[in-house]
Amino acid sequence: MNKAYLSLGSNLGNKKENIENALKYLESESVHIVSVSSYYETEPVGYTDQDWFLNMAIQIETSLNPYELLLYCQEIEQKLKRKRIIRWGPRTIDIDILLYENIYMNDEKLTIPHPRMIERAFVMIPLLEINKDLMIDQKPIKDIVKNMKKEEIRKVCYE
Ligand code: ADP
Ligand code: MG
Repeated sequence: MNKAYLSLGSNLGNKKENIENALKYLESESVHIVSVSSYYETEPVGYTDQDWFLNMAIQIETSLNPYELLLYCQEIEQKLKRKRIIRWGPRTIDIDILLYENIYMNDEKLTIPHPRMIERAFVMIPLLEINKDLMIDQKPIKDIVKNMKKEEIRKVCYE
């Protein structure tokens, strides 16, 4: 089994339900969810004329290789009818592979660690919550988060 970290986000429809549905689809014979962060509300980046995002991160154990895991996540995005109309625009669900074991790779399909993760507070803060000892590009996650420009982000409390 291989350890990996994923980021989930939604800003269309019932965002919490979309993420919960994605988590249900993820848990399977080939993917086991080990830990789950809180949910965070974040201001959109890039295309800003859209609703706030709901984001969270998970740690999984998986028998899938990185490419199989990407396909598996994309199938779930399709099932939840993610609309790819505007880049960084509204979407039902976005599932990104953040880290996969200690793999570094970069080709047209897949870049690991995820290329934009270290500048996104909505990825790094939930990730820090589930593992405070992670190293990314040989840097401790605590230092990355401490030094980063933080967009507006707040933890959501559900009763
Ligand atoms: P973003 O996640 O940056 O908002 P998309 O979800 O639309 O953008 O991703 C577009 C493409 O990014 C996917 O088709 C996929 O092939 C590629 N990609 C590269 N690296 C990764 C990764 N680590 N996790 C998920 N997708 C990735
Ligand atoms: Mg994505």
